[in-house]
Amino acid sequence: MGTSILHIDLGAVTRNWRALDAKSDASVQTCAVVKADGYGLGVGKVARALMKAGVKTFFVAAVEEGVILRQAVGPTPRICIFSGHMAGDTDMVLDMQLTPMLNSLDQITRHFNALPDHPFGVQLDTGMNRLGLEANEWSTVRDLVIGKKPMLVMSHLACADEPNHPMNAQQLAAFKDMTDGLDVPRSLAATGGILLGADYHFDLTRPGIGLYGGLPFDDAEPTVRVECPVIQIRDVAVGETVGYGNSWIAETPSRVATVAAGYADGITRHISNQSVLFDGDTPCPLLGRVSMDLITVDVTHLDHKPRSLDLLCAHQTVDDLADIAGTIGYEVLTSLGHRYTRRYRP
Ligand SMILES: *Cc1c(COP(=O)(O)O)cnc(C)c1O
Repeated sequence: MGTSILHIDLGAVTRNWRALDAKSDASVQTCAVVKADGYGLGVGKVARALMKAGVKTFFVAAVEEGVILRQAVGPTPRICIFSGHMAGDTDMVLDMQLTPMLNSLDQITRHFNALPDHPFGVQLDTGMNRLGLEANEWSTVRDLVIGKKPMLVMSHLACADEPNHPMNAQQLAAFKDMTDGLDVPRSLAATGGILLGADYHFDLTRPGIGLYGGLPFDDAEPTVRVECPVIQIRDVAVGETVGYGNSWIAETPSRVATVAAGYADGITRHISNQSVLFDGDTPCPLLGRVSMDLITVDVTHLDHKPRSLDLLCAHQTVDDLADIAGTIGYEVLTSLGHRYTRRYRP
């Protein structure tokens, strides 16, 4: 076994979905965001597990992702596309029965011209200034668009991971201003918005990161374990160095394990000389720089030679590693890469 193993717990994903689903009323539909290959965990496996748990609507970023998802889940679930209906998308939207979230007047024109009877949704901008129609644009097309019966009108919160941020209430008010009184299903909340409470839930919620075990969903179960096989163990004398750039120097006689994982597996170099790997419950410090394919680890304190060490596990979550690296759990997960041997647990 020369590559690391990415253990993916699909049962934990579906339990996280159920836990988020339980946070809103039964009348609210809890959907699932599976963009970026299911946040790196494998969109087909993740989506099929979620479908069995009861998910009826999925969201992905782009039409190309929607095509792959449709092949994995078959004709039944609704697949919504955040980036909307782009030039060149029409055939895929039609053939794969995808539902674009229209973001601009250009996209609305394109969709109504190309596929006048095809389902769509609308994304409104309530202050994030990333995707969606502005309030003034919406007011010019609202009656026409609502007359075409969109399946959803949605917006996205910029600061939902900070419950006390004033931006949340501001965006909620803007969303209500733009949509109150309209006869159309509404959605504002991703994982963070679900945790803000019922005012934010509307008709559909769109959790992503919480399904995969990441913050801001504190109660999420971890869904991944990264197990790195030990290739070699050596003893290092005082004054000897380990790894590129001689960035670690032994101050005491030490035992060093070399494991098969590196930055090509999405293990960022920013954790060089920081972080730990785990032998069961025992932390083992990472020594020197993370290389492309290899990481060196201090195992001096162990009374046996480990066969593998865990970089991600219950003791060190994606958010723990993200803190060390100066990033977020989302980026750790979606960086994990394609070299792992993947083992799925149902
Ligand atoms: C990614 C995304 C989500 C899911 O967000 P999480 O924070 O991962 O729950 C929901 N809505 C939109 C528009 C997104 O881009």
